[in-house]
Amino acid sequence: MADTDPDCIFCKIVAGELPSERVDEDENTVAFMDLNPATRGHALVVPRRHAKNLLDIDPEDLAATIRAAQRLARRALPALGADGVNLMNSCGPAAWQTVFHLHLHVIPRYDGDPLKLPWIPQPGDSNEIAAAAALLRA
Ligand code: AMP
Ligand code: ZN
Repeated sequence: MADTDPDCIFCKIVAGELPSERVDEDENTVAFMDLNPATRGHALVVPRRHAKNLLDIDPEDLAATIRAAQRLARRALPALGADGVNLMNSCGPAAWQTVFHLHLHVIPRYDGDPLKLPWIPQPGDSNEIAAAAALLRA
């Protein structure tokens, strides 16, 4: 896998070829503000090296990206007066991924903000849960 993809907007942001509100960077990662924020302060952390998604990324780059997300999350609470943080990653179109350069959403949360869980927690069928577990262990 090449380190950059000439057609990737996040590679262009990392290279400084597209504008962004950069908020953090280190040797392996860059963080910048999401243009369509879910809440005030919503940012994205990306590895500098192009990787399509969670399945594709080198584990060392993934570790660096998660460390950078933790750094930003720790900053977000006091800096923004946030009450919590969601980390989110989408892997594949079925999981809502729209930009195919791995990114972690760092979404500051505020007491009473309008975001909702995208599923309704309710008890699952125990046989189905056990069958899926067996497949995952295999
Ligand atoms: P996902 O749908 O999980 O792949 O997330 C892609 C995110 O990238 C979305 O939240 C978009 O708002 C955001 N986004 C797309 N283009 C840009 C850009 N040029 N600068 C900042 N954020 C962007
Ligand atoms: Zn890329």
